[in-house]
Amino acid sequence: MNRRSWAEPFKIKMVEPLRMSTLDEREQAIAEAGFNTFLLRSEDVYIDLLTDSGTSAMSDRQWAGLMVGDEAYAGSANYYHLEAAVHRYYGYKHLIPTHQGRGAEHILSRLMIRPGDVVPGNMYFTTTRAHQELAGARFVDVINDAAHDSLDESPFKGNVDLAKLERLIADVGADRIPYLCLQCCVNMAGGQPVSLANIAATAALCHRHGIKVMLDATRAVENAYFIKLREPGYGDKSIEEILREICSHTDGCTNSAKKDSLVNIGGFLCLNDDGLAEQARNLVVLFEGLHTYGGLAGRDMEAMAIGIGESVQFEHVRARVGQVEYLGRQLAAAGVPIVKPIGGHGVFIDAVRFLPHLSREELPAQALAAALYVDSGVRAMERGTVSSGRDPDTGKNIVPRLELVRLTIPRRVYTQAHMDVTAESVIALHEEPQRVVGLRFTYEPKYLRFFQARFEPVEGGVVLRPSAKAAERGVVTGATGQ
Ligand SMILES: *Cc1c(COP(=O)(O)O)cnc(C)c1O
Repeated sequence: MNRRSWAEPFKIKMVEPLRMSTLDEREQAIAEAGFNTFLLRSEDVYIDLLTDSGTSAMSDRQWAGLMVGDEAYAGSANYYHLEAAVHRYYGYKHLIPTHQGRGAEHILSRLMIRPGDVVPGNMYFTTTRAHQELAGARFVDVINDAAHDSLDESPFKGNVDLAKLERLIADVGADRIPYLCLQCCVNMAGGQPVSLANIAATAALCHRHGIKVMLDATRAVENAYFIKLREPGYGDKSIEEILREICSHTDGCTNSAKKDSLVNIGGFLCLNDDGLAEQARNLVVLFEGLHTYGGLAGRDMEAMAIGIGESVQFEHVRARVGQVEYLGRQLAAAGVPIVKPIGGHGVFIDAVRFLPHLSREELPAQALAAALYVDSGVRAMERGTVSSGRDPDTGKNIVPRLELVRLTIPRRVYTQAHMDVTAESVIALHEEPQRVVGLRFTYEPKYLRFFQARFEPVEGGVVLRPSAKAAERGVVTGATGQ
C-alpha cells in the first residue's frame, strides 16, 4: 500500500501508565527542583520531552535479545553481534564499546589531544566539548553562520563553513589540530543536518592537512534521512547506503547509542587506524571495562546490535521525524517562534522571541522550560546560556545567539495526542508570555552546570503567574487529572 502520510510502523503491546498532577503539585515540584527541569523527579512529569537520550521504547525483538545476553567477562557472543552490526551499518574497522557516548568521547579526547591543541567542530555539544577541554584543548566553532539564525530555512544548517576552517588551520597550524569533530543533525543548532557534499569537502580539506575527522555519529541515521529527502542525487538511496557513505569520509566516530540506536544505555568508539585502536583498547580497560564489553552487560550489547538494524529502516525514521514535524507544524501555525527547518529529534523554541519582556540575564529559556512544566507537566530542556557555561579563559558567561527550549521527542514512546497536549500548553503560554518570570542562579556547579544548577525567580515566588484569561474561560491549565 502506498501511503501519503506517515504512521508508526508498529503497534503497542505493553503500556506504562502516566501519573497526572495538579497545578499546586507542579508548582511545589519545580520549586523543590530549583526551577531546573533536570532536577524534577520523573514521577512528577506527565509528558517527558527532556531528552531523546536513552528514552526510546525497545522493540519486542530487542527485549527478546536481552534474554540471550551472554554475560561472560570476556569475548561475549553479544559483543561479536554488535561488532557485526556496527561493521555492516557504520563500516568502521575497529569497535570499542562504551557505557554511553561520553565514555567514547573521554577516551577519544585523552587519546588524541595534547594540552594546547585546538579542536574545531560544527557547533559544540556539551559533553563533547567538556571532554575536549578536560584533555587540554580549546574548542573552536566552524559551523556556518545560518546555524545561529533561527529564522534561516536553509536545508543543511549543520554544514561546516570551509572558509572558517581554512582560516583556523592557517592561524593555529595543522599540527595543533588533532582532529575535527563532525556532528550530525547538530543538536545545539536545533537538530540541523549536514549535507554529504559538505561532509566530503570538509573531510578532503582536513585530510589534505593531515587532520583526522571524527564523526559524532549520535544522530547520523536521522541525518541520513534528511540527506535522502533534501540532497540532490540521494532520493533513491537507502538510509543504510547513505549512512555508510557519511562514515566512509571519516576516520572514526563516537556514538551515543541512547539516541538513534534505540537503546536505553550504550555507546561506542570506532577507529579505522590500527595503532590508535590499540591505544584506545588500552584506555578503555581503565575507564569503562574490558574492550569486549566497555561498561555494558552482554544483554545491553545485544539490544544495541538489534536496535542499530531497526534504526536504519526507512519507515522507522520517517515516522520518527514525521512525529517531530507534526508537533513543530502545530506550533509554527500558531505563531510560536521555533527554529526552522524543524529538526530531526525535537522542536526548538526560540525563547528570546517567545519572551521579549525578559533580558538574556533573566535566562529566558530556563524560565520558559520551568513555566511549561508548571502549566501542563510537560518537561522540556534549556539549550541556551545555562547550557553554554562559562568561557574557560575569562570565566564569563558564554551568551550564545540561540536561546532555546528543546521539546525532545523520545523514539516510539508518545502518541500524536501527546503531541497535541504539548502544543496546546506551549500555545497557551505564547498567548500570555508576560506570565513567565525570569530566573537567576542560586547554585552553579563547575562542570556541565545545566544538569545540577539551581535557580530562583528574579521576583521571588512563582515562575508562572496565574492566568486571568484562563480562569475567566474556566480552563484548568494543563494535565490536572483531577
Ligand atoms: C547525547 C550526545 C552525546 C553524549 O552521549 P551520552 O550517551 O549522553 O553520553 C554526544 N554528542 C551528541 C551530539 C549527543 O546528542
